[in-house]
Amino acid sequence: MRILDIRHLTVPIESEMANAYISFASMDVSVLAIVTDQVRDGEPVIGFGFNSNGRYAQPGILDHRIIPRVLGAEPDSLIDPDTGHLAPDRIWHAAMINEKPGGHGDRAVAVGILDMAAWDLAAKLAGRPVQHLMAERAASGTGTPLERVWVYAAGGYYYPDRGTAALLDELRGYLDLGYRTVKLKIGGAPLAEDLARIEAVLAMLPDGADLAVDANGRFDTATAITYAEALRDLPLRWYEEPVDPLDYQALSEVAEVYPGPLATGENLLSRQEAVNLVRYGGLRPDRDVLQMDSALSYGFTEYDRTLAALAEHGWSPGRCVPHGGHQFNLAIAAACGLAGAESYPGIFEPFGGFADADPVVDGYVTLPQVPGIGLEQKSSLVPVLDRLRDR
Ligand SMILES: [Mg+2]
Repeated sequence: MRILDIRHLTVPIESEMANAYISFASMDVSVLAIVTDQVRDGEPVIGFGFNSNGRYAQPGILDHRIIPRVLGAEPDSLIDPDTGHLAPDRIWHAAMINEKPGGHGDRAVAVGILDMAAWDLAAKLAGRPVQHLMAERAASGTGTPLERVWVYAAGGYYYPDRGTAALLDELRGYLDLGYRTVKLKIGGAPLAEDLARIEAVLAMLPDGADLAVDANGRFDTATAITYAEALRDLPLRWYEEPVDPLDYQALSEVAEVYPGPLATGENLLSRQEAVNLVRYGGLRPDRDVLQMDSALSYGFTEYDRTLAALAEHGWSPGRCVPHGGHQFNLAIAAACGLAGAESYPGIFEPFGGFADADPVVDGYVTLPQVPGIGLEQKSSLVPVLDRLRDR
């Protein structure tokens, strides 16, 4: 069993929206294929991966460091002797040879793309849905994956020329799609305006639905605390990324004045950064939410280690709700018993969203029962995957 080629494409996911920190007008994604010499059902076996939104495509690091190392590795060193198959952890270690600790940044994104493809490949080689393979093989796997995963709809971005009526229409649309929790961006407007947006949404939500808010790391400590005091008596699901993602002191000061759940972690790119967050961020393992995203932070191979490290610090997988809105994190949530996963209905297409045949029902979504991640079960993604397949 051999890897024949590793290919990638850069694909735009441009959009006119913005959060408190960035515009998404020039955002793009790397999509990668690991092509093997194996055939299943008459088709060559290819594993596919991509990065989440919020970071950019990684053509430089993939071409200069990551792909040459994997293609240059002794082929048998990538094979698990027990299964005889190409193994994600072995591919991961080949990709990371001669990389120093720390300095994660875009390297973590590039390896995350490769690792998603390696898990898709491993599951296709095994003929198993990836959530089953992970649940059975990973240290943090539960043995049997969840049949359905809680998901919430992240939206409520700031768009040029869109007012509160359009915002309410957008969030109502998510409820109509079956979501029960929606999320709104804050911090891109003055506090009074943000409060008016939040209160308009709360007034619109039916019984059984709730709202989270996300500041995208925008605030300094004083502003984050001013917002915390303004938000603390509102029935919010959580208050997300009030301060810079690496400012654990500031986060702990916000936690002192905000009794409700805080959420953060999407901009942490390694196990060590997640450990530092729970050591020093003042977060509370009985209520706060950790949002590290495998597809931005060295993949599931690293996330599995992160979950083990979090457990040593008293944090359960039931406090984790990964950022990203893609099928890989959905599978990880099912395999490891996470609380849920983010979703971006209708935005960041075609990478956001789940398989066509798995609608959201009452806030939960099922997973495709096909070999691999099931990326081919999302019709809008198929033309992108085909561009890599047919070269
Ligand atoms: Mg966020």
